[in-house]
Amino acid sequence: MAQYFLEQARVTDFIAHLLAHHTVYAPHHRGGRSFAFEKTSDPEAVVLDYPRVLNAVKKFFLPPREVLLHFDLTRDTAAVPKVEPIDAVFLGVHSYDLAAVRRLDFNFSTGNPERNYLVRRKGARFIGVSYVPDKHHFAGSVGIDPYDMTGCDMFLTKHADGWIVDILTGEGSELAAGFKLEAHDEPKPRRAHFTQHVFVPQARLGQVMEASYDHPVWNETAETCLSCGTCNLVCPTCYCFNVEESVGIDCTNGHRERSWDGCMLRGFTEVAGGEVFREKVAARQRHRVYRKFKYISDVTGQPWCVGCGRCTASCTAKISIVEIVNRLIRDSERDESILT
Ligand code: SF4
Ligand code: SF4
Repeated sequence: MAQYFLEQARVTDFIAHLLAHHTVYAPHHRGGRSFAFEKTSDPEAVVLDYPRVLNAVKKFFLPPREVLLHFDLTRDTAAVPKVEPIDAVFLGVHSYDLAAVRRLDFNFSTGNPERNYLVRRKGARFIGVSYVPDKHHFAGSVGIDPYDMTGCDMFLTKHADGWIVDILTGEGSELAAGFKLEAHDEPKPRRAHFTQHVFVPQARLGQVMEASYDHPVWNETAETCLSCGTCNLVCPTCYCFNVEESVGIDCTNGHRERSWDGCMLRGFTEVAGGEVFREKVAARQRHRVYRKFKYISDVTGQPWCVGCGRCTASCTAKISIVEIVNRLIRDSERDESILT
């Protein structure tokens, strides 16, 4: 692994170098306070020092809406749109969002592999960037610190005068080829200070969740929850979707479309015949939290929440997943027999 230094004054030159050879997606300002990952055309518009983007890079590999199939009944034909690898550089990805991509890779390659997602993922190269945790981040509690370079081809660590550059793979070397970087060997920051914490590791959290199915926190949270589904839609590890078919007015042709859905939305839990299997908001809240810390975690041993803090930062009702989980932990610890 080689380490270099990029002065702040040369950051736009480096982005211009990337743009001369590649398609680049990077964080940009959106509105007054938000940031979004978008295709880059102007190096000056890229923001590398940001708290979080509204939607993670997931949106490129699993688009919010996509047509899966066109059909024409007059010709008795169906056509599947061609899906190509996204041959691009994702510049400025935070470690928790890359951890989320790895979790989605597991979800979409286990059981019945999901072709569209896996094809799109193939061409992606990642340049990670460190961040300063804000009042909502708690990635440290799920084992992902701001300097975690796992999955990156190159990583930029913030320094007072610029960025320390780690080149981690052959792809990373190719991205830097032709751009002069100074050699650098000073020690880097390795630990960050998080103000939000989940207080037990996943191994014990599984037991806490097991014991908390009937905990009053679900009903209490449901009293203020609007069941709007925002927490699902911003979550980088949520991947539930709906599939609908639209048919033209003459019933001769149409298409099948997939779109993001969320377990906090009542309609998601409604099945044919009108049965709603999680009618109560409390049941939907419990399901949301269990999807992050129990159901998939029981299989993989890892939390399926990456501690990005988006669900809390975006919630109109100010419902905090950290507060819910810590309440369950606290109450479970009162009954020590739960935590063996
Ligand atoms: S974003 Fe908040 S109010 Fe909306 S469904 Fe999620 S927890 Fe409920
Ligand atoms: S559950 Fe909330 S904090 Fe965890 S990954 Fe999803 S949006 Fe981020």
